[in-house]
This record gives sequence, structure tokens and C-alpha cells, in this order.
Amino acid sequence: MQVSEIFYSVQGEGPNIGMPAIFLRTAGCHLRCVWCDSKFTWERTSGKKMTTNEIIKELKKFPCKHLIITGGEPLIQQSAIKELLEKLKDYYIEIETSGSLKSYLDDYVNHYNCSPKLSNSKNKTIRLEKLPDEKTVYKFVVDSPKDLKEIKEFIKTNKIAQKNVVLMPQGIKKREIAERSKWLVEICKKENFRFSPRLHINIWGNKRKV
Ligand code: SF4
Repeated sequence: MQVSEIFYSVQGEGPNIGMPAIFLRTAGCHLRCVWCDSKFTWERTSGKKMTTNEIIKELKKFPCKHLIITGGEPLIQQSAIKELLEKLKDYYIEIETSGSLKSYLDDYVNHYNCSPKLSNSKNKTIRLEKLPDEKTVYKFVVDSPKDLKEIKEFIKTNKIAQKNVVLMPQGIKKREIAERSKWLVEICKKENFRFSPRLHINIWGNKRKV
């Protein structure tokens, strides 16, 4: 597997926010979101090639069995991830994905944080490869109040239950997240969507390995 970084922190976004977790960040992404906070992962060659056993050795250094596989886009390396997860059956597994690639990992995954890319990402239109309803939360990165219309259309088209939707402000600086949070919280109250802060930015700013 091409690995960008492995570190121990707390989940900063979505329904498991605050949970201590090990992060395995894979290298490589086929999308190019303009506001991407992990551009350093875009090229697969940006990562270090690690065997399954080398990765497990790193994971075992941390006092935790909650593993978040993030990227980049982890699902471009899902055969290598499958090989890893076959050996981590006693771990709670979260995968963070754009939802643009079909997953064959459902049997190994406890929870998907799927972040479908809206037009504010400036990617070409991306078709959602739906994930299992009972295991998935769809987290939308919201740049402006205008995004709400597109989000509502998206969840209707893709038959996503409102309870499985999370809205999160776009931003990699504390100040811009704070500003967007003010109006986004009001939208969440009015429309009954769950709000997610970006805890790691609030605590550490836009740093790696946190
Ligand atoms: S899908 Fe994720 S890693 Fe890829 S460009 Fe978008 S934000 Fe960055």
C-alpha cells in the first residue's frame, strides 16, 4: 500500500468526533477539490510503499483499536486495504471516502464517512457510488449558503436519509471556519441537519499528523 502517514489523534469530524483513533492516510486521489486540505497526498508516489505487516507493526504502537483509513482516496487501493483489514478483525474500522468509487469493503467496515463533492469543489460532476445506509454518514463540505439547494437535490436524487447527513463548514483556518459555522449552524437548526465542526483545525490549525 502507498501510505502517506500514520498517526494517533482524535476524530475531528463527523459522528465519531472526539473518539481517539489511529489514522492511516493513504496516498493518491483521482479528484482535485479546490479546497483540499491534503494536496500532499494527491500523487500515489507521494506515499511510502508499506507491506501489510509493516503497517500492522506501526498500528500496534498505539493504545487504540479504532482505525480511520483516510486519504487521498483510500478506495483506489482497496485490494491492499482488504488484505490489511482481514488481519484487523478486532478493530473498529472507519473509512473516509469521496463516494466516487464503488467499495468492496463493506464486510470489513464499521462506518463510512462519505464526503460527496459538490460543485463548490470544482471537480467534474461525480456520480455517487452509494454505500450501505446503516453504515454511512454523508458529510457535505459547505462553502456558502447557496450550497444548500444542491445538497437537498443530491440527497433526494440519491435517496439519502436526512439522519445520515452532516454539514461541515469549508475552511482550513480557524477564523474562516468560525465565520462559516455561524450561518451554517442556523441552516442546520432550520433544516434539521446535523452540524459538524472541524475539531482538529480548531485545536491545532491546518497541521499534518494531528
Ligand atoms: S477527494 Fe479528498 S483528498 Fe481528493 S482532492 Fe478532494 S478533498 Fe482532496
